[in-house]
Amino acid sequence: MKKVVFLDRDGTLIVEPPDEQIDSFEKLELIPGVIQGLRLLIDRGFELVMVSNQDALGSARYPLEAFEGPHNKLLGVLKGEGISFSQIFICPHTPADNCGCRKPKTGLVDQYIKSNDPDLGRSFVVGDRETDVQFGLNVGCKSVRLSDSATSAASYVAPDFLEACRYMVRADRSAHVERSTNETSITVDVVLDGTGSFNIQTGVGFFDHMLAQLSKHSLIDIDLAVKGDLHVDEHHTVDDTAIALGEAFHQALGNKKGIERYGFVLPMDDCLATVAIDFGGRPWLVWDAEFKREKIGELPTEMFFHFFKSFSDGARCNLNIKAEGANEHHKIEAIFKALSRAIRMAIRRDINNSELPSTKGML
Ligand SMILES: [Mg+2]
Repeated sequence: MKKVVFLDRDGTLIVEPPDEQIDSFEKLELIPGVIQGLRLLIDRGFELVMVSNQDALGSARYPLEAFEGPHNKLLGVLKGEGISFSQIFICPHTPADNCGCRKPKTGLVDQYIKSNDPDLGRSFVVGDRETDVQFGLNVGCKSVRLSDSATSAASYVAPDFLEACRYMVRADRSAHVERSTNETSITVDVVLDGTGSFNIQTGVGFFDHMLAQLSKHSLIDIDLAVKGDLHVDEHHTVDDTAIALGEAFHQALGNKKGIERYGFVLPMDDCLATVAIDFGGRPWLVWDAEFKREKIGELPTEMFFHFFKSFSDGARCNLNIKAEGANEHHKIEAIFKALSRAIRMAIRRDINNSELPSTKGML
């Protein structure tokens, strides 16, 4: 299913003049960041649809020819940058006309949505007015409002257009997973195209430290809160966290189109750790690492194998892990860092290729 960004025009892509009519070439001015932002959306697989209210278009006060010159110029400039809209919808009415197509009403796009059946859960509306936000709610997708300060019903209020596009790209490959049993209660959010920021609280200090490595070195944002039965021991906390985290990765990867799929890295401290990964859809773990200490911090070393096994199950990925060296803390930290780099390589998308990296046709 395609994902769509429905874009307002005036005040979003081009500067809106005080009289709210772009009816001459002199009034045509691109909003900064528009080309870069739209290219980003296209590269990440979004289809672009323009939806614009143009009050009284075609009347004496706003003749069609006066609109078409600057409008076609805009489309030509964007086309020259490899940016085009699959559809352009314009409502020519005024509020007094009480039509069914003026935003926030959805009359302009109803047929388009019916025939194309886009993935509305992964689609967005972007605009500079609250009516755009309401339009998004009415269509059934998330909204982004462009504003410095507005309080809004939008999913996100962006200070400028490029930041709005960056938000949509970040939000596209993200997931929220909640998992509760009698033994643990877990909430995890991951953003694959993040910055490596994290907020991790499992109740096990050394485990937090390892998961922080996972976030930091993969540039994946991880927000993780775990309430586990630590009065029993660390087992359920580590195991269930791995399952939930793996499931979040699986969901955030979505259809996996364009991803590199494989990752491999070989970092070294005093230890040598190798982690190879394949997000091929099937869990498997090869584990070749020995730990002589019973615990590192308060984390039992026997839980390391278990963590990666459960993560592999949750993320439906193949992991091949080998490590050798003297210092036990370094060894497991090197494994987590290597895993992070392997994941970072594997989830990267080739902007020139949106094919699924499999001859099977599914992953
Ligand atoms: Mg506008």
